[in-house]
Amino acid sequence: MAAERSTRAPDTPSPHVLFLDDDSHFLGGMRRALRELRHTWTLEFLQSPTEALERLEQLDTCILVVDWRMPVMDGPSVCAKARALLEKHPDKQLYLILLTGMDGPDRAAEALENGADDFVAKPVQTRELIARLRVGWRLLSAQHELWLANAQLSRLATTDPLTNLYNRRAAEEALDKELARVQRSLNALTVGMIDLDHFKQVNDTYGHGAGDAVLSSVAQTLQRTQREYDRTARWGGEEFLVICPDHGLAGGEPIGQRICAAISSHPIDVSTSKQIQITASIGIVTIAAGVQIDRTAVVEAADRELYRAKQGGRNQACATQIVSGSGCGRERRRS
Ligand code: GH3
Ligand code: MG
Ligand code: MG
Repeated sequence: MAAERSTRAPDTPSPHVLFLDDDSHFLGGMRRALRELRHTWTLEFLQSPTEALERLEQLDTCILVVDWRMPVMDGPSVCAKARALLEKHPDKQLYLILLTGMDGPDRAAEALENGADDFVAKPVQTRELIARLRVGWRLLSAQHELWLANAQLSRLATTDPLTNLYNRRAAEEALDKELARVQRSLNALTVGMIDLDHFKQVNDTYGHGAGDAVLSSVAQTLQRTQREYDRTARWGGEEFLVICPDHGLAGGEPIGQRICAAISSHPIDVSTSKQIQITASIGIVTIAAGVQIDRTAVVEAADRELYRAKQGGRNQACATQIVSGSGCGRERRRS
């Protein structure tokens, strides 16, 4: 049966209910009984469990009212598949109501044990069903708010407030993941430590606010130069870390040179009438596919290359490759 859409805009979160029953007469009766809800709720009436499960894949938040007895797939099996979907997509919110022809305490317990959140006996009393749907939606809404709040907290915990880049904690986590991955990968991993040159002078000359503007601008430049799977983070102060997976072993040096050029070629406004040119020194480490090495060793190697870049006159990248071994790896210098 076709969906009956509410008159609300599609992107406005509104209560959404899927009814699944093999009996078209029953669905027709439900459709008539629930007409008062249709102004504010979206109601869909479906006879096919496969179609209902496909709709659940597409919807983020909804109530599924499912008949217990159906020929192809019964209600508890649909509930089990819906629960499996929830495990796969933790951001989804579903509320499952099982319908059955038989009443009684055992049936209610069985429904709840079979993965339903609630249970309504047939013949369905419209007032009771509407009341239960409202309870279900209230719970889903509360769950959704909680999920949004958690997502916001997790974003705050991993984001640097000034630049909006990943913060150090998130960078360390991402680096650990990529170092575990490179051991099994066929491609190398490149990590770059970027330190702005003579940044203290920017603060001293133009003020701390101008220094902040420079950090934000460099962050944007770094984001513009990164590929889809790269990660850019503010490591601390005027230092940034880039993590670039899936490169060739020789890919590190060009990354460093590209970042240097991007930063130095982008003049930054420090006041309404003054633009300055900023440069950076970069230490690059490329870890060969299959190498086992820990985060501390990688960061130390990147810092050593960064130090060489500073010693070499700044505004440049120095690179090393870690091609074998476990623990500290064995380094092969590139420039
Ligand atoms: P070098 O070329 O050797 O790296 O010199 P530098 O001046 O960049 O390095 P130094 O370590 O002497 O100075 C870093 C400065 O960065 C000092 C510190 O006040 C400033 N800084 C750190 N965090 C922030 C921030 O969030 N905002 C601003 N405006 N300045 C910051
Ligand atoms: Mg520094
Ligand atoms: Mg510096």
